[in-house]
Amino acid sequence: MEQLTMLWEYQQADMAAERFKSEFRSSELRQKLEKDRNFIMDQQKSMKKIEADVAVMADRKEAIDDEFKRLNQLSEQLEARMNETPAEDIEQTQKYLKEARKLMDLITQYENEMRKLKKDAGVRDNQQREVVKRAAKAKAEFDELKKGYDVEYKEATAKLEVLKNDIAKKAVGIAPEYLSEYQQVKKHVVPPMAKLNGDRCGGCNMNLPQAVLKEIKVSGKIVECETCGRMIVSID
Ligand SMILES: [Zn+2]
Repeated sequence: MEQLTMLWEYQQADMAAERFKSEFRSSELRQKLEKDRNFIMDQQKSMKKIEADVAVMADRKEAIDDEFKRLNQLSEQLEARMNETPAEDIEQTQKYLKEARKLMDLITQYENEMRKLKKDAGVRDNQQREVVKRAAKAKAEFDELKKGYDVEYKEATAKLEVLKNDIAKKAVGIAPEYLSEYQQVKKHVVPPMAKLNGDRCGGCNMNLPQAVLKEIKVSGKIVECETCGRMIVSID
């Protein structure tokens, strides 16, 4: 058999394997698995985000606790001063009052912030619980799908093995330079070979120049389409 004809048959086997591989990649089960996996990864991201938020909140709570301690000390000091040096006129009373009010305002402000922090922490707790629940559900679904997928994968691997054997069989007798050229062209265009269709390339349907058409007639000569780069084979 002529080299290019053999290479054409090799391509049929090669493309059958490619089609099978792409079918397998787009299998419904595999798509679902990928969807679940992405979902689980999203939940893990959400979890990390919540954990980071909680850490920030814990830091803030600690800072506020320190502030409370400081303000308490200031209050005690003020009280001691008021006992030691009671106000003797209205001016002194107002001064003490102003200081006390300032402390009270700050304490109220921190109490409000603390309340808000507690509320936010509660929200985060709920979010965390939800995320854990959702992730666990997705993981269970993933594990179940994976069992089915493993069976599918095993079957597909066996089928692919058969297709690969067929490719190997079709390669027998083809000169290495034809096979390497085929692989080279396949990197750019798939399928890498096209039949001559009248005066046109069967791949891209462009007219081939007379000089190229002449070369195609030379037995075994590798001629590539100037437009799509496919190897042109002249067989029925
Ligand atoms: Zn072409």
